[in-house]
Amino acid sequence: MIPGNFSYYRAESKGQALQLLGRFGDDGRVLAGGHSLIPMMKLRLASPAHLIDITRVGELKGIAISGAQIEIGAMTTQRELIASNELAAACPIIRETAEQIADPQVRYCGTIGGNVGNGDPGNDLPALMQCLDATFVLEAASGTREVAARDFYQGPYVTALRRGEMLTKVRFAAPPAGHGHAYKKLKRKVGDYATAAAAVILEMSGGTVGKASIALTNVGPTPLYARDAVARITGTALGAADIGAAVQAAEAITSPAEDGRGSTDYRRKMAGVMVRRALIEAAGRAGDVKSGGGVFGWLRG
Ligand SMILES: Cc1cc2nc3c(=O)[nH]c(=O)nc-3n(C[C@H](O)[C@H](O)[C@H](O)COP(=O)(O)OP(=O)(O)OC[C@H]3O[C@@H](n4cnc5c(N)ncnc54)[C@H](O)[C@@H]3O)c2cc1C
Repeated sequence: MIPGNFSYYRAESKGQALQLLGRFGDDGRVLAGGHSLIPMMKLRLASPAHLIDITRVGELKGIAISGAQIEIGAMTTQRELIASNELAAACPIIRETAEQIADPQVRYCGTIGGNVGNGDPGNDLPALMQCLDATFVLEAASGTREVAARDFYQGPYVTALRRGEMLTKVRFAAPPAGHGHAYKKLKRKVGDYATAAAAVILEMSGGTVGKASIALTNVGPTPLYARDAVARITGTALGAADIGAAVQAAEAITSPAEDGRGSTDYRRKMAGVMVRRALIEAAGRAGDVKSGGGVFGWLRG
């Protein structure tokens, strides 16, 4: 329970952090909220030789909303995501998801950059970012590039981040007014990681699904964007058969590990249950699903 030896640096600016990262390469790690990295160091699952603390770097913090465009600095805490009424008005699924992360103590320190940059399939924000089709801005001393959240995750704790790079912000377009959304998470107890979770965004038009997005947490080696499930409901009235087809398609892409949260089969089924519940809740919140059959007809039937 005691970490190995490491040198500690406190960066005062983004430029200084990037320089240090560039200098140390694979031996350096940034320290954000520390609520994943420090436990991993104590368990000796991570042993960085150099820790670069970025908690004082103000330019990595903040939420900027300009029209439909939203940018969130990597060092914005999960608590700050929840506290922003402006963000909740523009994109309510962020608050709904962040409120389901861990507990208030963790959320006061844990950052969006640490949560999505960590590469832990159990983290809740990566699937949310895939659902929102977010872009991650990755900076190194040598330059900046952008990677889609849907292309960022390669395996457990393996991401598209290259040596010397840091995630500096996430960027996405807010879904249009009237969209439906839901993040449904099954966990064993308050503060636990997901047994399975699903993020859904729905845009309904004339009683049918015009556009949809579905992503899954902790039921595979990475967060999973459920492309086939989206195809099963797009253009439909979201009746029982449509939802059933989406649930099946979502379950088909999962490969959850058997662990203390349940067997592979149980967790796969729970992924389907979370997708079903999230679709129904999102439809109920969407602008114009309230007439005729569709999901409400099915619920009544
Ligand atoms: C008891 C407990 C319960 C938890 N439950 C949940 C939960 O239910 N859901 C959930 O999502 N999370 C959960 N967490 C994790 C928590 O949300 C962490 O805060 C989060 O995973 C990491 O964010 P951090 O800012 O603490 O990052 P750190 O722990 O500082 O860093 C994590 C990793 O990301 C890297 N990193 C950090 N910032 C950047 C950056 N800007 N660019 C590139 N790499 C970066 C670090 O080098 C490190 O490898 C839990 C944690 C605890 C202790």
